[in-house]
Amino acid sequence: MLSHIVYLSDSTNFINWSLIKDILLCSDENNKNKNVTGILFGHGINFLQVLEGDKIIIKNLYEHIAKDERHENIILLDFCPITERKFSGWSMKGFNFNNLPKEQQQHILNKYCPASEYFYLPTEKKSCLAFIDELTQL
Ligand code: FAD
Repeated sequence: MLSHIVYLSDSTNFINWSLIKDILLCSDENNKNKNVTGILFGHGINFLQVLEGDKIIIKNLYEHIAKDERHENIILLDFCPITERKFSGWSMKGFNFNNLPKEQQQHILNKYCPASEYFYLPTEKKSCLAFIDELTQL
């Protein structure tokens, strides 16, 4: 059954593009072989990942990823059936907030952290899912 998993975690090191690229490099072939799609968003020390694919396959992959020492404090936000993939073109699309064009950063900041100068990933499920929808537009 087509499903998705959405989780947040804390990186054990500050997230830069090179860390995201390393993870994407080791994910790409594995995810393609498993017909898994999704995104990995990094900002500061926070990761947000969406895994889309067969329910059992993404559950096993999530449990495998959860053991990775590059992150900790994993919070599972959503694991449920979906009718269609949001990121069908990507075995894993990487985003780093700081690499987004300034106007997109500002748009995200205004929408999700209106009272702050700094961007914080939403931690509440509903806002997080809305934020993921935002990423499909980028
Ligand atoms: P190995 O490559 O043998 O690695 C074993 C362990 O060594 C890892 O769990 C990790 O703790 C550590 N390690 C591996 N490479 C490095 C490195 N470059 N620097 C430091 N430590 C390292 N994999 C996927 O297949 N699909 C994904 O969608 C995916 N998403 C991920 C998201 C996050 C936030 C993180 C942190 C990792 C993700 N990974 C993903 C990577 C995954 O955890 C495994 O490292 C990868 O699947 C390779 O598995 P392996 O059994 O061959 O492990």
